Amino acid sequence: MASVLIVDDASFMRMMIKDILTKNDFDIAGEAANGQEAVDLFNETQPDLVTMDITMPEKDGIAALKEILQQHPGAKVIMCSAMGQQSMVIDAIQAGAKDFIVKPFQADRVMDAVQKVMG
Ligand SMILES: [Mg+2]
Repeated sequence: MASVLIVDDASFMRMMIKDILTKNDFDIAGEAANGQEAVDLFNETQPDLVTMDITMPEKDGIAALKEILQQHPGAKVIMCSAMGQQSMVIDAIQAGAKDFIVKPFQADRVMDAVQKVMG
């Protein structure tokens, strides 16, 4: 069973993603509320996939993405963006993110991205 690290500073957003993934038989490797926690938990749990919020305190999602990829070039990271963050999404894709999903999350769109990236 594939494991996913969920990263978002909003616990409600983490809960939504977690609900979609667990209903589709994914394991939750852990949850992080900022970019530094994401980097630390990635190293600790070595998940198969990460869903990464962009805007977070302390360390944002793009900085965390870059740090994770520097240490683990094969890491699979899907960015979670809000409306109006297109330029940050492009930065993230150029930095090595595999795909992105837009809030508010729709289960079918989340699973499309996850299956594409995992496949
Ligand atoms: Mg956020």
